[in-house]
Amino acid sequence: MNIANLFQSKKIVYSLEVFPPKKTSSVDTIYNTLYGLRGLPADFISVTYGAGGSDTQRSKTCEIASLIKSEYQIEPVSHLTCLNSTKEDIRQTLDSLKANGIQNILALRGDKGPAVTPKNDFTHANELAEFIKAYDPSFNVLGACYPECHCDSETIDQDIENLKLKIEAGASHLITQLFFNNNHFYEFMDKAIQKGITVPISAGIMPIINKSQIERTVSMCGASLPRAFSTMINKYADDPQALKDAGIAYAVNQIIDLISNDVRGIHLYTMNNVETASRITESIENIIKSQNRITKR
Ligand code: FAD
Repeated sequence: MNIANLFQSKKIVYSLEVFPPKKTSSVDTIYNTLYGLRGLPADFISVTYGAGGSDTQRSKTCEIASLIKSEYQIEPVSHLTCLNSTKEDIRQTLDSLKANGIQNILALRGDKGPAVTPKNDFTHANELAEFIKAYDPSFNVLGACYPECHCDSETIDQDIENLKLKIEAGASHLITQLFFNNNHFYEFMDKAIQKGITVPISAGIMPIINKSQIERTVSMCGASLPRAFSTMINKYADDPQALKDAGIAYAVNQIIDLISNDVRGIHLYTMNNVETASRITESIENIIKSQNRITKR
């Protein structure tokens, strides 16, 4: 199923993101996570791709996406990065995705860094989107976008101009980098619409449930921390359970605000944490149901 079509039939498209187990973790961790997530009303589940990982680790993305489809009958989205791949590598991955019936691909450049050796066949995600569409137009391509601007871009206007190239290359749906201040998302949406972007955009929300996650997340994606968020973290820093409860409540509030402002796509970065994903989903399930009911009337 082409997940971009979901936006035609549903008022809100709700999705979850999981990642393959790290080298040091048992492979069972992801099976346990998926088993725990079963039954949550996810319209699709996306599976990340370790740009700097080994071939075996990277092939896990396809394997897990395939399991999500066959075992749980949920539509998977396979992430795919290109900076560290040759065209032949990508062709082989597409062969494997196709053979496993995976139709939706999030086309990404991948981060630059010491773990990644650029192969120089691809420089940006729009080139990967174009390559996928040329390989087989029936693949549905998604792309990433950045409400607070990608760190390689000098201005958000330039970033959005570049984003348009990804859409011209075939991306039919975008998922945002995580953010903690919804105003950044609303301002980005206004700008994107002004610049003629009309594809659906899912808002990426990551619940912060422990202190170490905050430092990692901020250094990785550069999301700014609003005052209310920092106050919350400082207040509960020494009480792990309270911090977890507050982090979940913060994410739920963000999502309720987004839905109230007619945002159509919510993408939850689950961090493979079943309890957190279940608690957040439970809190917003009735809102999503009633919004979908309103559309059908
Ligand atoms: P691009 O679209 O290529 O953009 C990168 C920068 O280049 C931006 O500044 C952009 O404005 C600029 N640019 C884009 N196109 C052009 C062009 N044609 N000419 C000049 N400049 C251009 N990383 C992983 O390794 N694995 C994952 O699974 C993964 N999943 C992600 C999921 C989401 C939803 C998001 C938001 C990010 C994810 N990332 C993942 C991180 C991502 O790989 C990095 O953010 C990376 O730095 C940029 O990827 P991109 O696809 O947005 O790149």
